[in-house]
Amino acid sequence: MFALLIDVTRCVGCGACVAACCEANGLPLEEGADLGPYHYTVVRKVRTRRGEVYYRLLCMHCLDPACASVCPIGALKKRPDGPVTYNASICMGCRYCVQACPFEVPRYEWNSRAPKLGKCSFCAERLQHGQVTACAEACPTGATLCGERNELLKVARERIAAEPGKYLPKIYGEREVGGTSVLYISHVPFRTLGLPEHLPLEPLPGYTGRALSQIPPLVGSAGIVLAGLWWLTDRKAEVARAERETRSGGRR
Ligand code: SF4
Ligand code: SF4
Ligand code: SF4
Repeated sequence: MFALLIDVTRCVGCGACVAACCEANGLPLEEGADLGPYHYTVVRKVRTRRGEVYYRLLCMHCLDPACASVCPIGALKKRPDGPVTYNASICMGCRYCVQACPFEVPRYEWNSRAPKLGKCSFCAERLQHGQVTACAEACPTGATLCGERNELLKVARERIAAEPGKYLPKIYGEREVGGTSVLYISHVPFRTLGLPEHLPLEPLPGYTGRALSQIPPLVGSAGIVLAGLWWLTDRKAEVARAERETRSGGRR
């Protein structure tokens, strides 16, 4: 299974990963853009006691993704080689995935009559053709590496062991929510990077699965209908919210 290792200590904030992602996915490159339906990864800067720290965010490609577990029609799927892929052609826009994601990754297209999600695809087609992800290929410092997950865990452990005074003794994503295909090592606390700490180590679908198993099949079908109704009624509020955010400079 493929993974990405993001070494925050090596990120210089050059943005080459973002530019490569936009090019690979035919997306507009906008300076300062946040994660969004047309921006699958971002580089952020935070001031810390250890100086300015650059880091990037993207879908974590969870090993057992909560987003896929709540999708009523299977538009999101975890592939055996790592990527969590999204099939826009069958997505009905209920946005349960947006609510379920513990990393607040999927972003919804609000200015469309047939709104869809936007998120990193882990360059699934490139992986299939034996290439690394576009972002990893473009990174000049080794801050983003693409490779086999177990190999990257080994690299992460070696880097931490070689410089224990520099790195925190933890690989973020090794165990959180059952493990993710995007892994982080860092010299500043992960919460500083906006990565939630104290997440359950059990896959989140374990929780949703237990709840859903209590629901009879008929109610499940009704849930799909209700999801559609919910979308129709919530859509107006979403557009109003997005317009407010646009006026105030917000992007989510
Ligand atoms: S980070 Fe969120 S969107 Fe990405 S796979 Fe995990 S649950 Fe799904
Ligand atoms: S893996 Fe591909 S789609 Fe995801 S952030 Fe990197 S370049 Fe973009
Ligand atoms: S290309 Fe590498 S060094 Fe540059 S911003 Fe992206 S992760 Fe950081």
